[in-house]
Amino acid sequence: MIKSLLIANRGEIACRIIRTARDMGIRTVAVYSDADATALHVRRADDAVHIGPSPARESYLVGEKIIAAARATGAEAIHPGYGFLSENAEFAQSVIDAGLIWVGPNPASITAMGLKDAAKKLMAEAGVPVTPGYMGENQDPAFLAERAAEIGYPVLIKAVAGGGGKGMRKVDDAADFVEALASCQREASSSFGNAHVLIEKYIQRPRHIEVQVFGDKHGNIVHLFERDCSLQRRHQKVIEEAPAPGMDEATREQLCAAAVRAAKAVDYVGAGTIEFIADASDGLRADRIWFMEMNTRLQVEHPVTEEITGVDLVEWQLRVASGEALPKRQDELAINGWAMEVRLYAENPATGFLPSIGSLDHLAFPEELRIDTGVEEGGEVSPFYDPMIAKLIAWGQNRNAASAELRNGIDGTEVWPVKTNAGFLGRLLDLPEFASGDVDTGLIAREVDTLVTPPEPETDELLEAAALLCASPGQSPVSAALGFRLNAPSRAEARILDDSGATHDVVFSEVDEDHPTADVLAFVSGFARRYVLAQPRGSGLGAVGDGAILSPMPGRIIAVDVTAGQSVAKGQKLLTLEAMKMEHSLTAPFDGVVAELNAEAGMQVQVEALLARIEASAES
Ligand code: ADP
Repeated sequence: MIKSLLIANRGEIACRIIRTARDMGIRTVAVYSDADATALHVRRADDAVHIGPSPARESYLVGEKIIAAARATGAEAIHPGYGFLSENAEFAQSVIDAGLIWVGPNPASITAMGLKDAAKKLMAEAGVPVTPGYMGENQDPAFLAERAAEIGYPVLIKAVAGGGGKGMRKVDDAADFVEALASCQREASSSFGNAHVLIEKYIQRPRHIEVQVFGDKHGNIVHLFERDCSLQRRHQKVIEEAPAPGMDEATREQLCAAAVRAAKAVDYVGAGTIEFIADASDGLRADRIWFMEMNTRLQVEHPVTEEITGVDLVEWQLRVASGEALPKRQDELAINGWAMEVRLYAENPATGFLPSIGSLDHLAFPEELRIDTGVEEGGEVSPFYDPMIAKLIAWGQNRNAASAELRNGIDGTEVWPVKTNAGFLGRLLDLPEFASGDVDTGLIAREVDTLVTPPEPETDELLEAAALLCASPGQSPVSAALGFRLNAPSRAEARILDDSGATHDVVFSEVDEDHPTADVLAFVSGFARRYVLAQPRGSGLGAVGDGAILSPMPGRIIAVDVTAGQSVAKGQKLLTLEAMKMEHSLTAPFDGVVAELNAEAGMQVQVEALLARIEASAES
């Protein structure tokens, strides 16, 4: 058995691999870029090697640096995770040439499946049904247009070297073919350095169904059943589940047998996935499911397979790489229950899913779910890498149970201030089509408006949550970062300003006078809000702690009573902020000097803007 393992990856998958390696008594070595110096995967590993600047092409994608790190730390094997160098046959070969163990398939298998056209031809020869289409050498536009007409519109033009949903064009009408072809070829050559395309029949009501396969170095190959990954946004998976809804035993058997044939055709070793596309306009039928491509690595969504089979796929990878035979025979593998996974992303659905980068000041996950993550509270979502925060994985006796468990888990997920797709994911699970298993790859796009626009949260619900949180300040999730302090009597009437600018009057009872409860986070149905309590006119708002005078709410500075460098006494008025049609005085929290002043009369300020900083005088 391998005794030490270098993980050539980061984030959740590096942490996932480290977890199993540790359980198996294998020493782990992490690699990291500048941006990841304090990342979780680095802290979890026994050893860690810095491999360069933050951009992946200068660190995680540089094979020589990774091999050098393995040499320097005495690691015997390299696990590539997914993405980065995981499907790079050249890298796999150089790992082997360096005398190290490559935790993955033979480089030749990666190459055979690397280009979509060659892979399809190989699969067709092995008796695996492939999507009808043209996958030949001739790239003449007029010739390809003839093939498209033969296949019948709509067709899909696909870059043979494409990946990640890039380099694809759907064409509905012969008149648009030539232009779509040219644009696809341009994208293919700039993104993948290869302009070759293939033409495929565009499948109506497509469902994405994939089969997990596993091979060892002794010629054994098994499958671990299917996953359904039909819920996609722009060809990227959003929810994955296993098994596939509506799959009957006979169809499953035929599909999984085809997947094993596919793996055998390339002498597959290790964990792999055969992706199929199904035309689900008439349910799932074996004669309407076709090979799409093979991923020669561990998949992001592997946990759902683990949950229904009880197999630790990373453990199998490490055993197989060490030369052991597969731990189980096909007849020892069975499906138990149902599993579902959602990908929680740091992105804002309301702004077209733009990544939401920044620090994770507050991060809490529900305990009932399996959470695969690479970050902790206080960590960062870095602009350099994929902004996935975590995978939330639920298991249940049946599909409804798994989905209900996941739905609760989404509600119990708390992330701040980074924005997430949690609300979007929750609403997706709530769709009647999803609930009934009537899924296809177009569902999200058809429903995107409802999914993206949150139904205005029940004000009562939110206020209740906020009031509850204020009333019990010791309880999470109350933000620890407080800009000001509430001089509250045991019963206070306060005005709450929410992020959207709306104000709400609420009564708080039993406010703990010693506990600053001015700043409160509320999470309702994947919807995150921060509340700032406003004081009635005339009462002094003062900074606490380090002397930072932060704007307690968005507003306008109407007067500044001090100048930089001036000495001030505790309680002295510093400036006046107008917000919510009220004036608020900000006062000095202790005796000191105005060390920093960023406020000017007339200025608009955001919540938490640093307006001034008081430095305590020596004697105070
Ligand atoms: P990539 O390698 O870029 O991920 P794939 O070939 O795996 O590309 O296809 C990605 C997704 O595109 C599939 O999951 C499916 O949703 C859609 N797709 C691919 N081929 C077809 C097709 N022939 N008809 C309809 N949709 C397709």
